[in-house]
Amino acid sequence: MEHFDVLIVGAGLSGIDAAYHLQKFCPGKTYVILEQRERIGGTWDLFRYPGIRSDSDMFTMGYSFRPWTHRNSISDGDAIRDYITDTACSEGIDRHIRFRHRIQRVAWSSAEARWTVEAIRKSDGESAKPVRMTCGFLFCCAGYYRYDAGYTPEFPGIDRFAGRIVHPQAWPEDLDYAGKRVVIIGSGATAVTLLPAMAKIAAHVVMLQRSPTYVVSLPARDAIANWLRRVLSLKWAYRLSRWKNIAYMMFVYQLAQRYPAWVKNGIIRKAQAELGSGYDVTTHFAPRYNPWEQRLCVVPDGDMFHAIRTGRASVVTDEIREFTANGIRLESGRGTPSGPRRHGHGTRAPNHGRGENERGWMRGRCRPDFGVQRSHDVGRAEPCRGLRLHQCLLDSESRLNLRLCVPAAEFPDRKGVRQVTPEPSGEKPIAPFVVGFNPGYIQRDAANWPKQGSKPPWRVHQNYVRDIISLKWSSVDSGGLKFSNPPA
Ligand SMILES: Cc1cc2nc3c(=O)[nH]c(=O)nc-3n(C[C@H](O)[C@H](O)[C@H](O)COP(=O)(O)OP(=O)(O)OC[C@H]3O[C@@H](n4cnc5c(N)ncnc54)[C@H](O)[C@@H]3O)c2cc1C
Repeated sequence: MEHFDVLIVGAGLSGIDAAYHLQKFCPGKTYVILEQRERIGGTWDLFRYPGIRSDSDMFTMGYSFRPWTHRNSISDGDAIRDYITDTACSEGIDRHIRFRHRIQRVAWSSAEARWTVEAIRKSDGESAKPVRMTCGFLFCCAGYYRYDAGYTPEFPGIDRFAGRIVHPQAWPEDLDYAGKRVVIIGSGATAVTLLPAMAKIAAHVVMLQRSPTYVVSLPARDAIANWLRRVLSLKWAYRLSRWKNIAYMMFVYQLAQRYPAWVKNGIIRKAQAELGSGYDVTTHFAPRYNPWEQRLCVVPDGDMFHAIRTGRASVVTDEIREFTANGIRLESGRGTPSGPRRHGHGTRAPNHGRGENERGWMRGRCRPDFGVQRSHDVGRAEPCRGLRLHQCLLDSESRLNLRLCVPAAEFPDRKGVRQVTPEPSGEKPIAPFVVGFNPGYIQRDAANWPKQGSKPPWRVHQNYVRDIISLKWSSVDSGGLKFSNPPA
């Protein structure tokens, strides 16, 4: 059986980042990346719906070590996929990836201080073959939602609906919706992305939402970052743009925490200005929650507002009672949300891609999509520095967190030990993992989310600067971790 010092699950944004840092800080370690798909990119390779793009800027989402050089800071999915793939190839990481390996089970042996990983390898034209290997460290960079299928709620009468239903996670390449009438169900990031993209060629697009979301227009291009690139070296321009955007986001977040009513009014007033004084923003764009208590959606250059203004798209705020053969009946008693013409052959895209998929977060991030031999009640676990679960060496998606994992992978060597486990030693879980942020997908699964303790390293700061100090500059050995050797 092959053995590696480190096994990384997933060749998405995080997996490639983990490999980069591993190569840099632990050059002597052997590692492999097992990836179930046939390409690099994870999320940015899987999702192919029209308009797919990031909703945060790429200066903060990109790798710290590789400047983002595109003119658009809110970028389309293809450019992000290319960026991840180019990074992997130029750093020689691609040579360590084994594609079409789906991990099914991992088992930790305390007696041997190693993981046994069982995967299924599936190549074209070949039958599936089981593969087993062992590793000392397992970096779980498997993302936060289920890859096999997105979540689709049960709508009454959906079987009798004669139109086509499409999920954004499995967008058919040949889907022709030109000149057709489309209903997008949902109001999250995917819905606000799909609406302007589909409105370009569809007859009319209706976004049907149960409740409104904050929608904020931001420039797709970051003028300051593009200017910095002209006057400074690429590296320094990227660094400054990154910190500028981090500082700006922290400022906006703090503002929203301290003056929620003021920020709320500001966002709604901006939406009103975009849509015109006659538009009912109170019904469609004024959520019941405060900004940042749930997700805030960004639309580049106001593309969504533009599509609504031109009449190619509209928003309906109502609940679905049932599907009929030709459309959807709403709780308010209204018929099918209608655009300019009766629809019958429209594409319905139940869009639960982001919000509802994120119910699978626990499976992807903390309780991966494969079995772990020793069962853990994640709902009672406390994350060490926001990432490590009690006695379970799984690592989260964030590249920030990886800075802790990578030295941690090396650290046992320095201490002459072979295993390291988080040890809360009496620390009680006192608060949810994330405080003050309650979107539906967290509320529905609250019992299964890890809890945080009262003091470091069991406290989750939700503050980039404090997190970076904790993860990057404070010693791995500063408490909370137990270093040991397996029994002789
Ligand atoms: C439409 C959309 C837009 C988004 N926009 C943003 C944004 O603007 N900003 C932001 O911060 N985040 C955004 N996200 C979240 C996004 O998922 C993360 O930013 C980032 O791409 C996650 O990278 P990752 O490598 O952790 O996970 P993923 O991209 O999900 O990659 C995980 C990899 O692990 C592999 N894998 C999973 N299970 C197994 C297994 N059992 N065996 C082998 N391989 C496995 C998968 O095939 C995949 O390649 C968005 C997500 C979506 C869906």
